[in-house]
Amino acid sequence: AKWEEQIRRSARPARDGGISVLVTGAAGFVGTHCSLALKARGDGVLGLDNFNAYYDPALKRARQALLASRGVLILDADINDALLLAKLFDVAAFTHVLHLAAQAGVRYAMEAPQTYVASNVAGLVSVFEAAAKHADPQPAIVWASSSSVYGLNTDAPFSEDHRTDRPASLYAATKKAGEAIAHAYNHIYGLSLTGLRFFTVYGPWGRPDMAYFSFASAIVAGEPITLFADARRDFTFIDDVVRGCLGALDTAGRSTGSARTGKKTGPAPLRVYNLGNTSPVPVTRMVAILEKLLGKKANKRVVTMPSNGDVPFTHANVSHAAHDFGYRPTTSLEAGLRHFVDWFVDYYKLDVKIATANAKPTDNKTAK
Ligand code: NAD
Repeated sequence: AKWEEQIRRSARPARDGGISVLVTGAAGFVGTHCSLALKARGDGVLGLDNFNAYYDPALKRARQALLASRGVLILDADINDALLLAKLFDVAAFTHVLHLAAQAGVRYAMEAPQTYVASNVAGLVSVFEAAAKHADPQPAIVWASSSSVYGLNTDAPFSEDHRTDRPASLYAATKKAGEAIAHAYNHIYGLSLTGLRFFTVYGPWGRPDMAYFSFASAIVAGEPITLFADARRDFTFIDDVVRGCLGALDTAGRSTGSARTGKKTGPAPLRVYNLGNTSPVPVTRMVAILEKLLGKKANKRVVTMPSNGDVPFTHANVSHAAHDFGYRPTTSLEAGLRHFVDWFVDYYKLDVKIATANAKPTDNKTAK
């Protein structure tokens, strides 16, 4: 009963009209930032995360401590724990679910393929099942898909209706499967489902397995880095992605199903949006900005891209997100990496004097 009261308290909005959100993967990079932003504007937030060791669990615990200091509780649990999820939906009246828990990373899929299926397919089904059958009224669900669903497309910029039938990695294939599963849950149970295709998100509290982060670590340590010639990414700053996630939550339509009667009352929305920066940058340029900020040259080895899951480039068209919830990325890679490096140097207590990335790091507000 004390446990239930804690859950209810965390999930209860502090302001009138606030929403109540279950955030899965809340100790993750995107989950931490979204949870902080929701809490800051007076929404109720309950986090859930299994704190797996795919990357440094100490970083996840540090994010958890940050969230705890702002009054956000994170349960240490797996999304495949169906009994727990059923209980949570029974106890707290979540209006929304922000489902971010997943096995991320493209290359690790060759080492641990079943991990991807367990979290990104089976786990996603567990979350949708619990929302469809144990919540009354059913919450609207916003979940993380990925730009990787565009696979080897070359018809950039990518729009949501472009081909997604050529995944280049198992990771991409599980994200694509998630979109198909969402379609079925929307159709059968009347669940409101909004998929967000994130494009290479970076920033403070980021993921150590991602290139910008591991390159920064290697530059500081004087270790060599291997980069792929000609690779370009639509690097998207975390604050822009958070605004997109909150916008998607705020405009998500209602679910029309009822867990009690099993009936749905009409068509519920099913939507998929790109959340990118709309300006792809060569990975070599990203490294040059890091070198400048850290005041140290990287020991670079440039190789041609092997076919191990990476795609040559990504580039988002975000006009649907712009139209439906005013999504507009405003952070240039120079400005965003400066925020990342500020955090990185502080978090790891490094003896680095941060330079400016260029004469004047400007936001790309003016450029667009
Ligand atoms: P992350 O790894 O930092 O966060 C995911 C969190 O989910 C982790 O804290 C992990 O411990 C947790 N988790 C994983 N499996 C779980 C399970 N079975 N049960 C409970 N918790 C579990 O990754 P992120 O960068 O914050 O990504 C968030 C979401 O966005 C993911 O779905 C990811 O696939 C997607 N995405 C991210 C990017 C990006 O560039 N960061 C790009 C495209 C899509």
